[in-house]
Amino acid sequence: MSSDFPALYRLGIVGAGQIARMTHQAAVKLGITPRLLAEESDDSAALAAPDAVFGHPDSLVGFADTCEVITFEHERLDLGLLRRLEESGAKIRPGTKTVAAAFDKMHQRRVLLNRGFPVPVFSEVRSPDDLIDFSAVFDWPVVLKSIRAGRPGEKGVWIVENQHEAMAVLSENADRELMAENFQPIIKELVVIVVRRPGGNTRAYPVTETVQTDGVVREIRSPASVGHRVATEAKELATRIADELDAVGVLAVELFLTTEGLVVNELAARPHNAGHHTIESTPTSQFENHVRAVLDLPLGPTWQVAPAAVTMNILGGFDGVDPAEHLSEALSVEGVHVHLYGKRPKPGRKLGHVTALADDHELARDMARRAEAALQGRRPW
Ligand code: ADP
Repeated sequence: MSSDFPALYRLGIVGAGQIARMTHQAAVKLGITPRLLAEESDDSAALAAPDAVFGHPDSLVGFADTCEVITFEHERLDLGLLRRLEESGAKIRPGTKTVAAAFDKMHQRRVLLNRGFPVPVFSEVRSPDDLIDFSAVFDWPVVLKSIRAGRPGEKGVWIVENQHEAMAVLSENADRELMAENFQPIIKELVVIVVRRPGGNTRAYPVTETVQTDGVVREIRSPASVGHRVATEAKELATRIADELDAVGVLAVELFLTTEGLVVNELAARPHNAGHHTIESTPTSQFENHVRAVLDLPLGPTWQVAPAAVTMNILGGFDGVDPAEHLSEALSVEGVHVHLYGKRPKPGRKLGHVTALADDHELARDMARRAEAALQGRRPW
Protein backbone atom coordinates (compact mmCIF):
# COMPACT_ATOMS: atom_id res chain seq x y z
CA MET A 1 0.00 0.00 0.00
CA SER A 2 1.42 3.38 -0.91
CA SER A 3 1.71 5.85 1.96
CA ASP A 4 -0.51 8.42 0.27
CA PHE A 5 -3.56 6.12 0.22
CA PRO A 6 -5.85 7.61 2.89
CA ALA A 7 -6.35 5.45 5.97
CA LEU A 8 -10.00 6.40 6.36
CA TYR A 9 -12.47 4.95 3.84
CA ARG A 10 -9.94 2.94 1.84
CA LEU A 11 -12.08 2.31 -1.21
CA GLY A 12 -10.85 0.27 -4.17
CA ILE A 13 -12.55 0.35 -7.58
CA VAL A 14 -11.92 -2.49 -10.01
CA GLY A 15 -12.02 -1.15 -13.55
CA ALA A 16 -11.10 2.26 -14.92
CA GLY A 17 -13.59 3.23 -17.61
CA GLN A 18 -15.93 6.22 -17.48
CA ILE A 19 -18.07 4.71 -14.70
CA ALA A 20 -14.98 4.45 -12.48
CA ARG A 21 -13.93 7.94 -13.55
CA MET A 22 -17.22 9.52 -12.48
CA THR A 23 -17.36 7.41 -9.28
CA HIS A 24 -13.82 8.54 -8.49
CA GLN A 25 -14.83 12.18 -9.04
CA ALA A 26 -17.81 11.79 -6.70
CA ALA A 27 -15.62 10.20 -4.01
CA VAL A 28 -12.99 12.94 -4.31
CA LYS A 29 -15.74 15.50 -3.64
CA LEU A 30 -16.28 13.76 -0.27
CA GLY A 31 -12.57 13.87 0.52
CA ILE A 32 -12.10 10.19 -0.31
CA THR A 33 -9.52 9.21 -2.91
CA PRO A 34 -10.30 5.70 -4.12
CA ARG A 35 -7.60 3.46 -5.48
CA LEU A 36 -8.28 2.08 -8.97
CA LEU A 37 -7.32 -1.24 -10.49
CA ALA A 38 -6.85 -0.24 -14.13
CA GLU A 39 -5.75 -2.30 -17.12
CA GLU A 40 -4.20 0.33 -19.42
CA SER A 41 -2.53 3.67 -18.68
CA ASP A 42 -4.95 5.43 -21.02
CA ASP A 43 -8.08 3.99 -19.36
CA SER A 44 -10.53 6.84 -18.83
CA ALA A 45 -10.40 6.81 -15.01
CA ALA A 46 -6.65 6.09 -14.84
CA LEU A 47 -6.04 9.39 -16.66
CA ALA A 48 -7.79 11.22 -13.81
CA ALA A 49 -6.43 9.13 -10.91
CA PRO A 50 -2.68 9.32 -10.42
CA ASP A 51 -2.87 6.62 -7.74
CA ALA A 52 -4.21 3.94 -10.12
CA VAL A 53 -2.49 0.56 -10.07
CA PHE A 54 -2.30 -1.58 -13.17
CA GLY A 55 -3.10 -5.23 -13.54
CA HIS A 56 -5.60 -7.72 -14.92
CA PRO A 57 -8.86 -7.89 -12.88
CA ASP A 58 -7.65 -11.36 -11.76
CA SER A 59 -4.79 -9.73 -9.85
CA LEU A 60 -7.42 -8.71 -7.34
CA VAL A 61 -5.95 -10.42 -4.29
CA GLY A 62 -2.99 -8.08 -3.90
CA PHE A 63 -5.20 -5.11 -4.68
CA ALA A 64 -7.83 -6.21 -2.13
CA ASP A 65 -5.20 -6.33 0.61
CA THR A 66 -4.72 -2.56 0.28
CA CYS A 67 -8.44 -1.70 0.49
CA GLU A 68 -11.13 -1.81 3.12
CA VAL A 69 -13.99 -2.00 0.63
CA ILE A 70 -13.87 -3.08 -3.01
CA THR A 71 -16.41 -2.15 -5.64
CA PHE A 72 -16.57 -2.77 -9.41
CA GLU A 73 -17.37 -0.94 -12.58
CA HIS A 74 -17.81 -4.01 -14.78
CA GLU A 75 -18.82 -7.66 -14.59
CA ARG A 76 -15.76 -9.28 -16.19
CA LEU A 77 -14.73 -10.84 -12.91
CA ASP A 78 -13.61 -14.18 -11.53
CA LEU A 79 -16.53 -15.05 -9.28
CA GLY A 80 -14.67 -17.89 -7.52
CA LEU A 81 -11.92 -15.46 -6.57
CA LEU A 82 -14.45 -12.92 -5.28
CA ARG A 83 -16.13 -15.62 -3.16
CA ARG A 84 -12.77 -16.62 -1.65
CA LEU A 85 -11.99 -12.98 -0.91
CA GLU A 86 -15.38 -12.48 0.70
CA GLU A 87 -14.94 -15.64 2.81
CA SER A 88 -11.60 -14.33 4.01
CA GLY A 89 -13.32 -11.17 5.29
CA ALA A 90 -12.95 -8.70 2.39
CA LYS A 91 -15.85 -6.29 1.97
CA ILE A 92 -16.97 -6.91 -1.63
CA ARG A 93 -19.71 -4.44 -2.51
CA PRO A 94 -22.08 -5.33 -4.03
CA GLY A 95 -21.71 -8.76 -2.44
CA THR A 96 -21.04 -11.87 -4.48
CA LYS A 97 -24.75 -12.82 -4.46
CA THR A 98 -25.47 -9.67 -6.50
CA VAL A 99 -22.34 -9.93 -8.64
CA ALA A 100 -23.25 -13.54 -9.55
CA ALA A 101 -26.64 -12.38 -10.83
CA ALA A 102 -25.20 -9.46 -12.80
CA PHE A 103 -22.42 -11.63 -14.19
CA ASP A 104 -24.39 -14.53 -15.65
CA LYS A 105 -27.65 -13.79 -17.48
CA MET A 106 -28.97 -17.37 -17.17
CA HIS A 107 -28.40 -17.36 -13.42
CA GLN A 108 -29.98 -13.89 -13.24
CA ARG A 109 -33.09 -15.05 -15.09
CA ARG A 110 -33.40 -18.15 -12.89
CA VAL A 111 -33.04 -16.17 -9.65
CA LEU A 112 -35.63 -13.62 -10.76
CA LEU A 113 -38.05 -16.28 -12.02
CA ASN A 114 -37.75 -18.30 -8.79
CA ARG A 115 -38.58 -15.19 -6.76
CA GLY A 116 -41.65 -14.48 -8.92
CA PHE A 117 -40.34 -11.45 -10.86
CA PRO A 118 -41.62 -11.02 -14.45
CA VAL A 119 -38.93 -12.10 -16.99
CA PRO A 120 -39.05 -13.18 -20.65
CA VAL A 121 -39.27 -16.91 -21.35
CA PHE A 122 -35.68 -18.12 -21.64
CA SER A 123 -33.66 -21.24 -22.29
CA GLU A 124 -30.01 -22.15 -22.52
CA VAL A 125 -28.78 -22.91 -26.06
CA ARG A 126 -26.24 -25.72 -25.97
CA SER A 127 -26.83 -26.89 -29.54
CA PRO A 128 -28.67 -25.78 -32.71
CA ASP A 129 -31.42 -28.27 -31.78
CA ASP A 130 -32.10 -26.39 -28.54
CA LEU A 131 -32.71 -23.25 -30.58
CA ILE A 132 -34.92 -25.00 -33.14
CA ASP A 133 -37.01 -26.48 -30.28
CA PHE A 134 -37.31 -23.02 -28.68
CA SER A 135 -38.45 -21.36 -31.93
CA ALA A 136 -40.94 -24.18 -32.56
CA VAL A 137 -42.71 -23.26 -29.32
CA PHE A 138 -42.23 -19.46 -29.20
CA ASP A 139 -41.86 -18.68 -32.91
CA TRP A 140 -39.57 -16.06 -34.52
CA PRO A 141 -38.04 -13.62 -33.90
CA VAL A 142 -35.93 -15.12 -31.14
CA VAL A 143 -33.52 -13.05 -29.05
CA LEU A 144 -30.11 -14.68 -28.62
CA LYS A 145 -27.88 -13.40 -25.83
CA SER A 146 -24.41 -14.07 -24.60
CA ILE A 147 -24.73 -15.41 -21.05
CA ARG A 148 -21.59 -13.61 -19.87
CA ALA A 149 -20.86 -9.89 -20.14
CA GLY A 150 -18.41 -9.08 -22.92
CA ARG A 151 -15.92 -6.26 -23.23
CA PRO A 152 -17.29 -2.72 -23.78
CA GLY A 153 -18.64 -2.44 -27.31
CA GLU A 154 -18.72 -6.22 -27.86
CA LYS A 155 -22.04 -7.37 -29.28
CA GLY A 156 -23.94 -9.65 -26.92
CA VAL A 157 -27.55 -9.57 -28.19
CA TRP A 158 -28.90 -10.70 -31.57
CA ILE A 159 -32.53 -10.52 -32.64
CA VAL A 160 -32.83 -13.26 -35.23
CA GLU A 161 -35.79 -13.51 -37.59
CA ASN A 162 -35.36 -17.06 -38.87
CA GLN A 163 -33.38 -20.28 -38.60
CA HIS A 164 -30.81 -19.18 -41.18
CA GLU A 165 -29.90 -16.01 -39.21
CA ALA A 166 -29.90 -17.94 -35.96
CA MET A 167 -27.47 -20.57 -37.23
CA ALA A 168 -25.11 -17.83 -38.49
CA VAL A 169 -25.01 -16.29 -34.98
CA LEU A 170 -24.42 -19.71 -33.39
CA SER A 171 -21.53 -20.52 -35.70
CA GLU A 172 -19.91 -17.06 -35.35
CA ASN A 173 -20.12 -17.36 -31.57
CA ALA A 174 -19.25 -21.03 -31.12
CA ASP A 175 -16.87 -20.14 -28.27
CA ARG A 176 -19.53 -18.28 -26.25
CA GLU A 177 -22.30 -19.61 -24.04
CA LEU A 178 -25.63 -18.39 -25.41
CA MET A 179 -29.25 -18.32 -24.30
CA ALA A 180 -32.52 -17.73 -26.14
CA GLU A 181 -35.39 -15.48 -25.08
CA ASN A 182 -38.81 -14.83 -26.51
CA PHE A 183 -39.20 -11.49 -28.28
CA GLN A 184 -40.98 -8.92 -26.10
CA PRO A 185 -43.60 -6.49 -27.46
CA ILE A 186 -41.76 -3.44 -26.11
CA ILE A 187 -43.56 -0.09 -25.78
CA LYS A 188 -40.75 1.64 -23.86
CA GLU A 189 -37.40 0.69 -22.33
CA LEU A 190 -37.09 1.90 -18.74
CA VAL A 191 -34.33 1.89 -16.15
CA VAL A 192 -34.73 2.23 -12.41
CA ILE A 193 -31.62 3.04 -10.45
CA VAL A 194 -31.80 1.90 -6.87
CA VAL A 195 -29.14 2.47 -4.27
CA ARG A 196 -28.96 0.34 -1.14
CA ARG A 197 -26.83 0.40 2.00
CA PRO A 198 -25.74 -2.70 3.87
CA GLY A 199 -28.63 -3.43 6.18
CA GLY A 200 -31.26 -2.45 3.65
CA ASN A 201 -31.77 1.33 3.61
CA THR A 202 -32.78 1.94 -0.03
CA ARG A 203 -33.56 4.88 -2.30
CA ALA A 204 -34.75 4.87 -5.91
CA TYR A 205 -34.19 7.57 -8.54
CA PRO A 206 -37.04 8.66 -10.84
CA VAL A 207 -37.71 6.10 -13.58
CA THR A 208 -35.82 6.94 -16.78
CA GLU A 209 -36.48 6.03 -20.37
CA THR A 210 -33.79 5.03 -22.86
CA VAL A 211 -34.10 5.54 -26.59
CA GLN A 212 -32.04 3.24 -28.81
CA THR A 213 -30.95 3.51 -32.41
CA ASP A 214 -29.58 0.33 -34.03
CA GLY A 215 -29.54 -1.37 -30.61
CA VAL A 216 -27.42 1.39 -29.03
CA VAL A 217 -28.68 3.81 -26.37
CA ARG A 218 -28.45 7.35 -27.77
CA GLU A 219 -30.74 9.28 -25.51
CA ILE A 220 -31.93 9.06 -21.91
CA ARG A 221 -34.96 10.97 -20.63
CA SER A 222 -35.88 11.50 -17.03
CA PRO A 223 -38.47 11.18 -15.71
CA ALA A 224 -39.83 8.62 -18.16
CA SER A 225 -43.08 9.57 -19.86
CA VAL A 226 -45.11 6.90 -18.12
CA GLY A 227 -48.06 7.24 -15.80
CA HIS A 228 -47.83 7.32 -12.04
CA ARG A 229 -48.97 3.70 -11.71
CA VAL A 230 -46.24 2.33 -14.02
CA ALA A 231 -43.57 4.52 -12.40
CA THR A 232 -44.55 3.37 -8.91
CA GLU A 233 -44.69 -0.27 -9.98
CA ALA A 234 -41.27 0.00 -11.67
CA LYS A 235 -39.66 1.53 -8.58
CA GLU A 236 -41.23 -1.07 -6.28
CA LEU A 237 -40.09 -3.89 -8.55
CA ALA A 238 -36.51 -2.59 -8.67
CA THR A 239 -36.39 -2.04 -4.92
CA ARG A 240 -37.67 -5.56 -4.22
CA ILE A 241 -35.01 -7.00 -6.54
CA ALA A 242 -32.28 -5.04 -4.73
CA ASP A 243 -33.58 -6.40 -1.41
CA GLU A 244 -33.80 -9.98 -2.72
CA LEU A 245 -30.20 -9.85 -3.95
CA ASP A 246 -28.96 -8.11 -0.80
CA ALA A 247 -27.42 -5.55 -3.16
CA VAL A 248 -25.10 -2.88 -1.80
CA GLY A 249 -24.42 0.24 -3.86
CA VAL A 250 -26.22 1.04 -7.11
CA LEU A 251 -28.33 -1.63 -8.76
CA ALA A 252 -29.66 -0.60 -12.17
CA VAL A 253 -32.76 -2.53 -13.20
CA GLU A 254 -33.51 -2.41 -16.93
CA LEU A 255 -37.19 -2.99 -17.64
CA PHE A 256 -39.34 -3.38 -20.71
CA LEU A 257 -42.75 -1.79 -20.58
CA THR A 258 -44.65 -4.20 -22.82
CA THR A 259 -48.24 -4.58 -23.89
CA GLU A 260 -48.46 -7.19 -21.11
CA GLY A 261 -46.92 -5.00 -18.37
CA LEU A 262 -43.41 -4.62 -16.92
CA VAL A 263 -40.77 -7.26 -17.67
CA VAL A 264 -37.24 -7.30 -16.22
CA ASN A 265 -34.60 -7.22 -18.94
CA GLU A 266 -31.27 -6.91 -17.21
CA LEU A 267 -29.53 -6.01 -13.96
CA ALA A 268 -26.29 -4.09 -13.60
CA ALA A 269 -24.71 -3.92 -10.17
CA ARG A 270 -22.96 -0.59 -10.68
CA PRO A 271 -23.74 2.99 -11.74
CA HIS A 272 -25.44 2.90 -15.13
CA ASN A 273 -25.43 4.97 -18.31
CA ALA A 274 -29.11 5.77 -17.75
CA GLY A 275 -28.19 7.50 -14.49
CA HIS A 276 -25.51 9.89 -15.72
CA HIS A 277 -28.03 12.76 -15.72
CA THR A 278 -28.30 12.44 -11.92
CA ILE A 279 -24.99 14.34 -11.67
CA GLU A 280 -26.95 17.50 -12.47
CA SER A 281 -30.59 16.49 -12.15
CA THR A 282 -30.67 15.27 -8.53
CA PRO A 283 -29.18 16.49 -5.24
CA THR A 284 -27.02 13.34 -4.96
CA SER A 285 -25.73 11.68 -8.13
CA GLN A 286 -25.83 7.90 -8.61
CA PHE A 287 -22.01 7.96 -8.34
CA GLU A 288 -21.97 9.75 -5.01
CA ASN A 289 -24.73 7.55 -3.62
CA HIS A 290 -22.84 4.46 -4.82
CA VAL A 291 -19.77 5.62 -2.89
CA ARG A 292 -21.88 6.45 0.16
CA ALA A 293 -23.67 3.08 0.05
CA VAL A 294 -20.59 0.88 -0.37
CA LEU A 295 -18.90 2.72 2.50
CA ASP A 296 -22.10 2.44 4.59
CA LEU A 297 -22.55 6.21 4.83
CA PRO A 298 -25.97 7.95 4.87
CA LEU A 299 -27.59 8.13 1.42
CA GLY A 300 -28.53 11.44 -0.17
CA PRO A 301 -31.81 12.57 -1.75
CA THR A 302 -32.68 11.22 -5.21
CA TRP A 303 -35.54 13.47 -6.34
CA GLN A 304 -35.21 15.40 -9.60
CA VAL A 305 -34.52 19.14 -9.35
CA ALA A 306 -35.94 20.05 -12.80
CA PRO A 307 -39.08 18.90 -14.64
CA ALA A 308 -37.06 17.31 -17.46
CA ALA A 309 -33.53 15.98 -17.96
CA VAL A 310 -32.17 14.63 -21.24
CA THR A 311 -28.78 13.00 -21.73
CA MET A 312 -27.30 12.23 -25.14
CA ASN A 313 -24.40 9.82 -25.41
CA ILE A 314 -21.47 11.01 -27.49
CA LEU A 315 -20.43 8.03 -29.60
CA GLY A 316 -17.37 7.80 -31.83
CA GLY A 317 -18.24 8.04 -35.53
CA PHE A 318 -16.64 6.45 -38.58
CA ASP A 319 -15.30 9.89 -39.57
CA GLY A 320 -12.83 9.78 -36.65
CA VAL A 321 -13.98 13.17 -35.29
CA ASP A 322 -12.60 13.81 -31.80
CA PRO A 323 -15.27 15.55 -29.66
CA ALA A 324 -12.52 17.05 -27.48
CA GLU A 325 -11.55 19.22 -30.44
CA HIS A 326 -15.06 20.72 -30.47
CA LEU A 327 -15.37 21.42 -26.76
CA SER A 328 -15.50 25.16 -27.30
CA GLU A 329 -18.48 24.96 -29.69
CA ALA A 330 -20.33 22.58 -27.33
CA LEU A 331 -19.80 24.85 -24.35
CA SER A 332 -21.34 27.70 -26.31
CA VAL A 333 -24.70 25.89 -26.05
CA GLU A 334 -25.92 27.74 -22.99
CA GLY A 335 -26.79 25.60 -19.97
CA VAL A 336 -25.72 22.18 -21.30
CA HIS A 337 -23.46 20.03 -19.11
CA VAL A 338 -20.65 18.48 -21.14
CA HIS A 339 -18.78 15.37 -19.95
CA LEU A 340 -15.90 13.97 -21.95
CA TYR A 341 -14.17 10.78 -20.82
CA GLY A 342 -10.68 11.39 -22.23
CA LYS A 343 -10.92 8.37 -24.53
CA ARG A 344 -9.42 8.04 -27.98
CA PRO A 345 -12.16 8.14 -30.66
CA LYS A 346 -13.21 4.81 -32.16
CA PRO A 347 -16.42 4.05 -34.08
CA GLY A 348 -19.23 3.25 -31.65
CA ARG A 349 -17.15 3.96 -28.54
CA LYS A 350 -18.77 6.02 -25.76
CA LEU A 351 -16.59 9.13 -25.61
CA GLY A 352 -18.76 11.31 -23.40
CA HIS A 353 -22.27 12.53 -22.74
CA VAL A 354 -24.16 15.79 -22.47
CA THR A 355 -27.05 16.54 -20.14
CA ALA A 356 -29.59 19.34 -20.34
CA LEU A 357 -32.22 20.26 -17.77
CA ALA A 358 -35.32 22.20 -18.78
CA ASP A 359 -39.00 22.76 -18.11
CA ASP A 360 -39.97 20.06 -20.60
CA HIS A 361 -38.37 17.22 -22.52
CA GLU A 362 -38.63 18.93 -25.92
CA LEU A 363 -36.55 21.87 -24.73
CA ALA A 364 -34.03 19.70 -22.90
CA ARG A 365 -33.65 17.42 -25.95
CA ASP A 366 -33.14 20.38 -28.25
CA MET A 367 -30.34 21.76 -26.04
CA ALA A 368 -28.67 18.36 -25.63
CA ARG A 369 -28.89 17.67 -29.38
CA ARG A 370 -27.26 20.97 -30.23
CA ALA A 371 -24.35 20.23 -27.90
CA GLU A 372 -24.08 16.70 -29.27
CA ALA A 373 -24.00 17.99 -32.87
CA ALA A 374 -21.30 20.49 -31.89
CA LEU A 375 -19.14 17.76 -30.33
CA GLN A 376 -19.57 15.62 -33.43
CA GLY A 377 -18.31 18.50 -35.55
CA ARG A 378 -21.70 19.01 -37.21
CA ARG A 379 -23.26 22.40 -37.90
CA PRO A 380 -25.42 24.16 -36.96
CA TRP A 381 -25.33 23.55 -33.25
P1 ADP B 1 -26.93 -5.25 -23.47
O1 ADP B 1 -26.19 -6.07 -22.49
O2 ADP B 1 -26.27 -5.13 -24.81
O3 ADP B 1 -27.42 -3.94 -22.91
P2 ADP B 1 -29.72 -6.04 -23.43
O4 ADP B 1 -30.16 -7.33 -22.81
O5 ADP B 1 -30.05 -4.80 -22.68
O6 ADP B 1 -28.20 -6.14 -23.77
O7 ADP B 1 -30.36 -5.94 -24.87
C1 ADP B 1 -30.07 -4.88 -25.80
C2 ADP B 1 -31.36 -4.45 -26.49
O8 ADP B 1 -31.92 -5.56 -27.22
C3 ADP B 1 -32.45 -4.04 -25.51
O9 ADP B 1 -32.28 -2.72 -25.10
C4 ADP B 1 -33.70 -4.28 -26.35
O10 ADP B 1 -33.91 -3.19 -27.23
C5 ADP B 1 -33.35 -5.51 -27.17
N1 ADP B 1 -33.83 -6.74 -26.47
C6 ADP B 1 -33.15 -7.46 -25.53
N2 ADP B 1 -33.91 -8.50 -25.11
C7 ADP B 1 -35.06 -8.45 -25.81
C8 ADP B 1 -36.25 -9.26 -25.82
N3 ADP B 1 -36.37 -10.36 -25.08
N4 ADP B 1 -37.25 -8.89 -26.65
C9 ADP B 1 -37.13 -7.79 -27.48
N5 ADP B 1 -36.04 -7.01 -27.52
C10 ADP B 1 -35.02 -7.32 -26.69
